[in-house]
Amino acid sequence: MPPLSQQQSNEFSRILKSRYRELWSDVQRELANAQPYSEIAGETHDLEDQATADVLVDINLADIHRNIGEMRDIESALERIVGLSYGTCTDCGTDIGLDRLRAWPTAKRCQPCQGRYERQHATPKHPSM
Ligand SMILES: [Zn+2]
Repeated sequence: MPPLSQQQSNEFSRILKSRYRELWSDVQRELANAQPYSEIAGETHDLEDQATADVLVDINLADIHRNIGEMRDIESALERIVGLSYGTCTDCGTDIGLDRLRAWPTAKRCQPCQGRYERQHATPKHPSM
Protein backbone atom coordinates (compact mmCIF):
# COMPACT_ATOMS: atom_id res chain seq x y z
CA MET A 1 0.00 0.00 0.00
CA PRO A 2 1.69 3.22 -1.14
CA PRO A 3 1.74 5.88 1.62
CA LEU A 4 0.44 8.59 -0.72
CA SER A 5 -2.68 8.92 -2.83
CA GLN A 6 -2.33 9.32 -6.58
CA GLN A 7 -3.25 12.97 -6.23
CA GLN A 8 -0.61 13.56 -3.55
CA SER A 9 2.01 11.77 -5.65
CA ASN A 10 1.17 14.03 -8.58
CA GLU A 11 1.45 17.07 -6.35
CA PHE A 12 4.94 16.10 -5.11
CA SER A 13 5.99 15.12 -8.60
CA ARG A 14 5.06 18.60 -9.79
CA ILE A 15 6.91 20.30 -6.90
CA LEU A 16 10.02 18.20 -7.47
CA LYS A 17 10.07 18.76 -11.23
CA SER A 18 9.70 22.51 -10.95
CA ARG A 19 12.51 22.59 -8.32
CA TYR A 20 14.60 20.48 -10.69
CA ARG A 21 14.09 22.96 -13.56
CA GLU A 22 15.00 25.82 -11.22
CA LEU A 23 18.25 24.11 -10.19
CA TRP A 24 19.10 23.26 -13.78
CA SER A 25 18.66 26.84 -14.97
CA ASP A 26 20.85 27.95 -12.02
CA VAL A 27 23.54 25.54 -13.15
CA GLN A 28 23.32 26.82 -16.71
CA ARG A 29 23.58 30.40 -15.46
CA GLU A 30 26.58 29.53 -13.30
CA LEU A 31 28.28 27.88 -16.26
CA ALA A 32 27.60 30.92 -18.44
CA ASN A 33 28.99 33.18 -15.70
CA ALA A 34 32.06 31.02 -15.19
CA GLN A 35 33.04 31.25 -18.84
CA PRO A 36 34.39 34.84 -18.90
CA TYR A 37 36.50 34.17 -15.79
CA SER A 38 38.17 31.14 -17.27
CA GLU A 39 38.86 33.19 -20.40
CA ILE A 40 40.48 35.88 -18.26
CA ALA A 41 42.59 33.23 -16.54
CA GLY A 42 43.67 31.83 -19.87
CA GLU A 43 44.53 35.14 -21.48
CA THR A 44 46.40 37.02 -18.78
CA HIS A 45 49.67 36.08 -17.16
CA ASP A 46 49.24 38.52 -14.33
CA LEU A 47 49.41 36.52 -11.08
CA GLU A 48 46.89 38.68 -9.27
CA ASP A 49 44.28 38.30 -12.01
CA GLN A 50 44.96 34.60 -12.13
CA ALA A 51 44.31 34.24 -8.39
CA THR A 52 41.06 36.23 -8.60
CA ALA A 53 39.86 34.16 -11.53
CA ASP A 54 40.60 30.93 -9.65
CA VAL A 55 38.59 32.05 -6.63
CA LEU A 56 35.57 33.02 -8.74
CA VAL A 57 35.62 29.76 -10.66
CA ASP A 58 35.86 27.83 -7.38
CA ILE A 59 32.79 29.57 -5.96
CA ASN A 60 30.79 28.81 -9.10
CA LEU A 61 31.84 25.18 -9.03
CA ALA A 62 30.77 24.84 -5.40
CA ASP A 63 27.31 26.20 -6.30
CA ILE A 64 27.06 23.90 -9.29
CA HIS A 65 28.17 20.95 -7.19
CA ARG A 66 25.50 21.70 -4.58
CA ASN A 67 22.79 22.12 -7.22
CA ILE A 68 23.72 18.88 -8.95
CA GLY A 69 23.65 17.05 -5.61
CA GLU A 70 20.11 18.30 -5.03
CA MET A 71 19.14 17.39 -8.61
CA ARG A 72 20.28 13.81 -7.93
CA ASP A 73 18.15 13.75 -4.78
CA ILE A 74 15.19 14.96 -6.83
CA GLU A 75 15.79 12.34 -9.53
CA SER A 76 15.78 9.57 -6.95
CA ALA A 77 12.66 11.03 -5.28
CA LEU A 78 10.90 11.00 -8.68
CA GLU A 79 11.99 7.38 -9.16
CA ARG A 80 10.49 6.53 -5.76
CA ILE A 81 7.21 8.19 -6.80
CA VAL A 82 7.12 6.02 -9.94
CA GLY A 83 8.06 2.93 -7.90
CA LEU A 84 5.37 3.78 -5.30
CA SER A 85 7.91 3.83 -2.48
CA TYR A 86 7.92 7.63 -2.17
CA GLY A 87 6.94 8.72 1.34
CA THR A 88 8.19 5.45 2.88
CA CYS A 89 11.35 5.57 4.98
CA THR A 90 14.14 3.73 3.14
CA ASP A 91 15.65 2.60 6.44
CA CYS A 92 12.74 1.37 8.57
CA GLY A 93 9.80 1.30 6.13
CA THR A 94 7.41 3.53 8.09
CA ASP A 95 5.57 6.48 6.55
CA ILE A 96 7.70 9.62 6.45
CA GLY A 97 4.60 11.78 6.92
CA LEU A 98 3.09 14.47 4.71
CA ASP A 99 4.24 17.40 6.86
CA ARG A 100 7.85 16.30 6.61
CA LEU A 101 7.56 15.68 2.85
CA ARG A 102 6.01 19.09 2.30
CA ALA A 103 8.88 20.72 4.19
CA TRP A 104 11.46 18.52 2.49
CA PRO A 105 10.14 16.80 -0.66
CA THR A 106 13.34 14.81 -1.28
CA ALA A 107 13.26 13.22 2.21
CA LYS A 108 13.86 9.49 2.00
CA ARG A 109 13.98 8.77 5.73
CA CYS A 110 11.66 9.38 8.63
CA GLN A 111 12.87 11.86 11.22
CA PRO A 112 14.40 9.36 13.72
CA CYS A 113 16.22 7.48 10.94
CA GLN A 114 17.50 10.72 9.39
CA GLY A 115 18.79 11.83 12.80
CA ARG A 116 20.60 8.51 13.22
CA TYR A 117 21.98 8.74 9.67
CA GLU A 118 23.33 12.25 10.23
CA ARG A 119 24.99 11.22 13.48
CA GLN A 120 26.69 8.32 11.69
CA HIS A 121 27.76 10.48 8.72
CA ALA A 122 29.41 13.51 10.28
CA THR A 123 28.72 15.95 7.41
CA PRO A 124 24.95 16.36 6.93
CA LYS A 125 24.06 17.86 3.55
CA HIS A 126 20.51 18.71 4.56
CA PRO A 127 19.08 20.44 7.57
CA SER A 128 17.70 18.01 10.11
CA MET A 129 13.96 18.33 10.58
ZN1 LIG B 1 12.73 5.36 9.42
